[in-house]
Order: sequence, then structure tokens, then C-alpha cells
Amino acid sequence: MAERALAHIEKIEWVKPIEGADNIELIGVLGWVCIAKKGEFKPDDKAVYIEIDSKCPESDERFSFLKSKHYKVKTMKLGKFKVISQGLALPITSFPELLDKPIGTDVTTDLKIIYSSLEDVRRKSNKVDPEAKYKSMAVRHKELFKNPVIKKMMKYKSGRKILFLFFGSRKKDNPKKFPEWIKKTDENRIENCPFYLQSEEPWVKTEKLDGTSCTFAVNRLKKGKDKFEYIVCSRNVRQADRNQECYHESNIYWELSDKYDIENKLKEIAIKNNYNRVVIQGEGVGNVQGNPYKLKENDLYVFNIVIDGVRIDNALMEYICKLYEFKTVPIIDTNYYLPKTMEEIKLEADGFSKINPKVRREGFVYRDLYGQQSFKNVSREYLLRHNS
Ligand code: ATP
Ligand code: MN
Repeated sequence: MAERALAHIEKIEWVKPIEGADNIELIGVLGWVCIAKKGEFKPDDKAVYIEIDSKCPESDERFSFLKSKHYKVKTMKLGKFKVISQGLALPITSFPELLDKPIGTDVTTDLKIIYSSLEDVRRKSNKVDPEAKYKSMAVRHKELFKNPVIKKMMKYKSGRKILFLFFGSRKKDNPKKFPEWIKKTDENRIENCPFYLQSEEPWVKTEKLDGTSCTFAVNRLKKGKDKFEYIVCSRNVRQADRNQECYHESNIYWELSDKYDIENKLKEIAIKNNYNRVVIQGEGVGNVQGNPYKLKENDLYVFNIVIDGVRIDNALMEYICKLYEFKTVPIIDTNYYLPKTMEEIKLEADGFSKINPKVRREGFVYRDLYGQQSFKNVSREYLLRHNS
């Protein structure tokens, strides 16, 4: 899977003054809107565009103006001028080494840009978090690990290792590789693919839930035999067994597998219909990401079913979920025509969640009726509140 491009070469789409602002103006890059110094850009200029969630390298002088922001690029609201700015555009002339790169080139590694939150880096890494076993040790011995001496030891790698000898678990922490034949879950941002707004076709609109991506699958081992391998994965790694340490306090992936009896259900679907591979993917929510929906129990909301390599359409997915007692992500509209402008679609993402109406939603995901094309629309208000 391609890593997310946090920095890319783009052209300036438009420039607009901000009422009452003398030194800054608004510019458009793809479908993104951000502020720039007045006069810095004119339409069609080439720029380096750095997305929200990025951290720029301290070592590069050209980013020194970001020092007070800890070199991080976030969603910003300029209340005074009633504008929201997302991302950072810099003139290509400051980056002579990138001058001849074409529009669209990913320059994340050239510029040494990384994810700003360590949590994102770890969550998205294909390796097991080397700190996960220490974290879960502390969680298992909550009271003890409040002790100041222990707390101090936990600050040092050597201290953590010693404590682990006494309090660590002997559980395995050898994850397996994410199976190559399963597509990892991912969604493009509408701001990076604004051409979708020209679509005249209807879309299925679902609520985007903010949790952790879960994948469950059965894989027929031998043609004609009803023997299957069962697979449980997080976003990027296969969770070898129930005891595997993962990024969260407990192994939510196996917990949800048990809660919904997923292994047996997927086997039944495969056997009854003579399928070889059945994959079900959903968002695990609850005690992850800071429990934004304030749920008492972890839960799974399905958004993908893939049968023998083909993602089935939404109607069939809903039907199978009903039949096998899975929850789907909240389905808002199954015949939705997209608004024509970026501002309209951005505004509709703001609002409250179907699974807890007291809490703001993260946004929406839109899919075509065949379940092939899709994109996400993350609420700017949600990002502002979550400081990213
Ligand atoms: P980044 O933008 O940094 O790549 P990310 O890879 O974590 O972030 P998200 O922003 O979380 O991606 O968006 C894609 C993810 O959204 C999917 O992988 C899936 O786990 C999750 N998701 C939540 N709700 C839905 C939904 N209704 N439909 C599809 N995916 C959903
Ligand atoms: Mn995410």
C-alpha cells in the first residue's frame, strides 16, 4: 500500500483576498483552502503543498518559521477573519532541488516530512510497536505502576526491561504479515480528488467512524474441502493470536472476533455459497482513539465485505450484515447526489454522530453504487476540536 503523501508538488488554483486582512490571503491547492502571505502566489504558480498531520524537519532552515508551532501543520481557524486554513503552501522557488518535479509528485521523503503524531506513526507502522508490551504491562498492574519509583524506572529503556523481567507477560508478540491478497482499508480525501464533485452519479453516504480498522477473513485451504485459515488483522498487521500485544490496551481485534463469532459466520458464508475467500472489514470503536463516542463496550461497524477478491456493493453488504447480525457503519443515504462545490461538501461533513448524537462526527465516506470508487470527507470542525 502506498504511504500517504504528506507533501506534494501542486499548482495554485486560485487566490482570493480575505476581507479585513492586510497581510494574508486565501489560496486554493487541489480542493484544499489555506492562507498565504499576500502576493506570494498567483494562479498556476508551482508550490510545495504540505498537508495537515505533517511535521517538518527542524534541521531544514526553510521551516524555521514553524518553530513556535513545533514544526507541525494543523487545521487552523482564524476566528477574526472567519476562515479555516488547512495545510501549508510554499513557493517552489524556495526548493530549487524540486524545481523540475512535475505537478503531483510526492516529495514527502525528499523533504523529510513525517506524521506529526507519534501515535499515527506507530499505528500505521507495519511493525509491532516495541513499546506495546511495556504499555500493556503497566495497564495490567495499574496500581503498582502508579508508584513513583516504578514510574521513574518506566522512563528509561533499561528500567522498562528490568520491570518486564518481573511483571512482563510471556505472551507471544510475533505478529504475522498482513496477507497480500487482502486490500488494506484506506480512503482518499475529497480535497485531494476534487474531480469527484463533477460526478452526476448517485453515491452511498456513510458516517466515518473514528476508531481502528479491523479486518477478518477466511481463506479456503484446499479446493473442494471445507477447511479454512482464519485471519484477524489490525490496519497493518495480522494479529497472530488472542494474546498478541497490540497498540491498544487489550487486543480489540480478537475481542470483536469473539463478540460477533466472526470465524464461524465467515466460514458459514463461504461454505453455503462455495466461496474461497471472504473478508469483512469494519471500524472497531470503543476503548480506542480516546473513546470519542464514550461507549461502554467495544463494538464493530462493518463497511466492507469482499468476496473472492471483489468488494460487494452497499445493498448486498447491508443484507449480509443483517442476516449475520453485524452492525454496519451508519448509512446516511443510499442515493445521494454530491453538491457541486468543495465548500458545500465540507460544510455537510460537520455535525453529530449517529452512534452518539451528543458527539461530533468525524465526517462521511462516499461510495459509488457498485462499491468501487470512494472517498472521505473529514469534518474541519472535528479536526479543529481534535487539534490535528
Ligand atoms: P490518514 O488520512 O493519515 O491516511 P488513516 O489512514 O487513518 O489516516 P482515515 O483518515 O482514518 O485514514 O480514513 C480511512 C479509514 O476510515 C479506513 O481505513 C477505515 O478504517 C475508516 N472508516 C471509518 N468509517 C468508515 C466508513 N464509514 N467507510 C469506510 N471507512 C471507514
Ligand atoms: Mn484515521
